[in-house]
Amino acid sequence: MSYTKKILRVNLTAGTCAAEPLNLEWAGQYLGQRGLATKYLAAEVDPRVDPLSPENKLIFATGPLTGTAASTGGRYSVITKGPLTGAIACSNSGGYFGAELKFAGWDMVIFEGRSARPVYLLLEDDQATLLDASHLWGKTVWETEEMIKGAHQDPLMRVSSIGRAGENGVLFSAIVNDLHRAAGRSGVGAVMGSKNLKAFAVRGTRTDSYAVAEPEAFFKAVDAAKAVLAGNAVTGQGLPAYGTQVLMNVINEVGALPTRNGTGVQFEGARAISGEAMHENRATDGKPNLINHNGCFGCTIACGRISKMDPNHFSIKDKPQYQAASGGVEYEAAWALGAACGVNDLEALTYVNFLCNEDGLDPITLGSTIGAAMELYELGILTKEEAGMELPFGSAEAMVKLGELTARGEGFGKIIGLGSKRLTAKYGRPELSMSVKGLEFPAYDGRSLQGMALEYATSNRGACHVRGYMVSPEVLGIPVKLDPAATEGKAPMLKAFQDLTAVVDSAGICLFTTFAWSADDIQSQIQPAIGGDWPVAKLMEAGDRIWNLERQFNLAAGFTTKDDTLPPRMLSEGGKTGPYKGNVAQLGKMLPEYYQVRGWTAEGVPTEETVARLGL
Ligand code: SF4
Repeated sequence: MSYTKKILRVNLTAGTCAAEPLNLEWAGQYLGQRGLATKYLAAEVDPRVDPLSPENKLIFATGPLTGTAASTGGRYSVITKGPLTGAIACSNSGGYFGAELKFAGWDMVIFEGRSARPVYLLLEDDQATLLDASHLWGKTVWETEEMIKGAHQDPLMRVSSIGRAGENGVLFSAIVNDLHRAAGRSGVGAVMGSKNLKAFAVRGTRTDSYAVAEPEAFFKAVDAAKAVLAGNAVTGQGLPAYGTQVLMNVINEVGALPTRNGTGVQFEGARAISGEAMHENRATDGKPNLINHNGCFGCTIACGRISKMDPNHFSIKDKPQYQAASGGVEYEAAWALGAACGVNDLEALTYVNFLCNEDGLDPITLGSTIGAAMELYELGILTKEEAGMELPFGSAEAMVKLGELTARGEGFGKIIGLGSKRLTAKYGRPELSMSVKGLEFPAYDGRSLQGMALEYATSNRGACHVRGYMVSPEVLGIPVKLDPAATEGKAPMLKAFQDLTAVVDSAGICLFTTFAWSADDIQSQIQPAIGGDWPVAKLMEAGDRIWNLERQFNLAAGFTTKDDTLPPRMLSEGGKTGPYKGNVAQLGKMLPEYYQVRGWTAEGVPTEETVARLGL
């Protein structure tokens, strides 16, 4: 129960759609969504495959709690081999699309091959049809969603699509659903574009698909878990009031806000781009940036931001389509487009964030790559002629211009669209890419937060904050307070966080619940939803298994222990200010212990014993 027990296989080369039963033995080992789809991908795709070739596959997957009454139970993930990194990629999104896919009666949809012409999949309950999308090619996400809903006369249809970035092969393009919810990282949108798949529209009316095994126990557990969220300071107050932007001033104060491409750890303009600033009336028009907050399907936290810009801001003055309310900046986007570029203009960040939603771009990699370009420019390596503009740190005009060019695939935006690793390599300074395995790290500095340094170095999809959020213990004191500067104890704590996160991502719920929910709170809902026997130890073992499977995929793709590292700046240039001034990331002290607690060899390979224990 809570599985529909059905997957849809769409062969885009042949133009066929076929249902097949879900592999329930694998579901018992990998739970769902991230874990189960990774199992399918690893079983069906050669890890050495070119990510943008027809041989790669793209899997949309739900979890057993997706579409149920569990708070935040609307998540889905997109799993593929990522084009930005060449590593396993799993990108998670909220909104309403995931629940709708479940309501249509499907646990998972696997896209394979490549269509000869642009198409979109229309999935209405059991009915799957590939339709011509030639008229949608070249359209933005916003236009595509409106046109598909209009064509089928169904405003309740849910649409996941790519914008022009995914069509143009921007290596960090996103898949966007519900206008401003995105499977944002790792370039999953580029894989969708490479398959000539413009969109995936779904409408579900089946009430049996979200039935749970033990309804009475399930609803009791769900009610109790919702009360835990409501009573917690982060999920009951901080996130609803300020969204993830509640972190901007907090992280800046602890000296962990990477600034100007990591040349600093504190940004003097942080206050101006913070969650608090979004609430305040602007000096220019007397109105606030933030006008509302909203939530994804079934969410009782509602951290989403809805913003309305000053219509006279230089970026949108003659562009009425951006003068309406739309999805506002979250913390990571505000950091990347703001602090990483030295830009303190909240309205400019909001506009480029709109562009990221409109054309399907990952704002973290976009901002971080623009920040790297700005450093190359400041060093005299990248010229005004090559960039087509002056590109100093702090220029909101340049950040806006590069955001527009990248979304449209024009001018220097084509180079930005390759991400910071390829950009900095092109100019002979690869060490200036603030990335791991090719994925740019987000809004926390590993020199000040040692656990985050270890997390970035070891995350299977490249530097990532949502694969074991060590900010919780190191800054917020959740579940216990750890000294950010200490290296002792970080490896076992990170392993536990990574395994629990794999469970959360595979269950179909939002990671933000873990600010309040313990493993017991999560288990109490999964157990009666699925039925059978799912103690915490079994769930955590599933998380461990998922992590190791992802690791095996990456090793087979050619990654080695040499890739479990950080940009040289993080390892050798101490932070210049803040409480941890002078600190560098002490990876050498933590990585061997991490390999040990993971049950890996000194070369970072799962031992035979680990492989046997997890049944890999
Ligand atoms: S906490 Fe935020 S991101 Fe998570 S499900 Fe709720 S609204 Fe969506």
